[in-house]
Amino acid sequence: MSATLDFASTPSVPVGAGAKPSLVGRDRAGLTAALAEIGVPERERKMRVSQLWHWIYFRGIREFEEMTNVSKRLRAALAEHFTLARPEVAAEQVSSDGTRKWLIRLLADTPGEQPHEIETVYIPEAERGTLCVSSQVGCTLSCTFCHTGTQRLVRNLTAGEIVSQLVIARDRLGDWPRASAPAGAIVPTGERFISNIVFMGMGEPLYNFDGVKNAIEVIADGDGLSVGKRRITVSTSGVVPEIERLGAEVGAMLAISLHATRDSLRDEIIPLNKKYPIKDLLAACRSYPGVSNARRITFEYVMLKGVNDSAQDARELVRLLAGIPAKINLIPFNPWPGTIHECSDWDTIEQFSEIVFRAGYASPVRRPRGRDILAACGQLKSETQKLSARERMALRAMAMTD
Ligand code: SAH
Ligand code: SF4
Repeated sequence: MSATLDFASTPSVPVGAGAKPSLVGRDRAGLTAALAEIGVPERERKMRVSQLWHWIYFRGIREFEEMTNVSKRLRAALAEHFTLARPEVAAEQVSSDGTRKWLIRLLADTPGEQPHEIETVYIPEAERGTLCVSSQVGCTLSCTFCHTGTQRLVRNLTAGEIVSQLVIARDRLGDWPRASAPAGAIVPTGERFISNIVFMGMGEPLYNFDGVKNAIEVIADGDGLSVGKRRITVSTSGVVPEIERLGAEVGAMLAISLHATRDSLRDEIIPLNKKYPIKDLLAACRSYPGVSNARRITFEYVMLKGVNDSAQDARELVRLLAGIPAKINLIPFNPWPGTIHECSDWDTIEQFSEIVFRAGYASPVRRPRGRDILAACGQLKSETQKLSARERMALRAMAMTD
């Protein structure tokens, strides 16, 4: 798997104070406020917001000039005070299997300060395309197997910054009406190139509950970006009090990073477990609003050699999940510089998977991708190492999500 590094061909966006604010990423309330700011009468605002919404989130336009059903005067007023700029794409990596990673430079919080950067990954498959988005810059939790956990948390992303990751991905993939994919791009055969969103990039989404919730409302809106909530999955390391809220207030699909079946081990590899132990986490899953056989919870389980990968662990896993409508994703561990863990051997993963399969769960490691995974964990390392740990992690995780 080779990757090319291609620095953005899109013009960079003005950064910092003094720059006009962008309307991209705003929800309806934010657009209404923008219209109020430039003196659009209250009675007109709702209709104008619908127009802006359509142009920004359905068509993906970049210039107010293109809003042909909006009066010239209003277009000029909008352009005078606002932009349709996206955060800058600092770099794009394209793998030979079609996976793309964008390094996105956020607008600087304070003038003169180094702007923060986040990653967004796109994983195309035959019939769907998954975008793996970040919810925070870094992460405050320090799971022992996770590279992001070694970064200092800088801050939560705003809802607009989360939405912008999708807008940017659609720009780069040509996934707007009348646009087309870049030459040679690998994209799914379906109508849209991005059909699913997973919050499995940088950060713990449930520690940025409001930002994630507001972003999902914009992303799922059927008049705009229109990725339905059943196609949006929020992955959490187990912030128990927010799980119920996610189901009740947002209605997105839930994924749990379980990774261990005993508190003593989970305390060690996911320190948050000390606060919210397995029993409480699974109780929150059992009562997750909307959970059913048609809306299963995904349990992620990273395969760590000699740590959590025994046959006993596999049996314990299916015992723990009994009665919960669940899917199980076994994720081969992706190593990163300085990590203390190794990926389980392929035989061990197969044995583990077999036990899970016999317990009635759909084959959690798919063979063709499984070989690819084995490759990533050893065989083809020299070919895959240009992709970051997170990118490979996202690729693996996605290959196994139904
Ligand atoms: N903070 C959230 C979402 C981001 S991590 C969470 O923890 O769920 C997304 C998934 O990648 C989680 O299941 C996480 O445990 C897993 N992961 C992290 N580092 C990994 C690695 N090096 N190899 C494989 N999976 C990893
Ligand atoms: Fe944070 Fe998730 Fe990584 Fe744990 S696995 S450190 S919660 S991003």
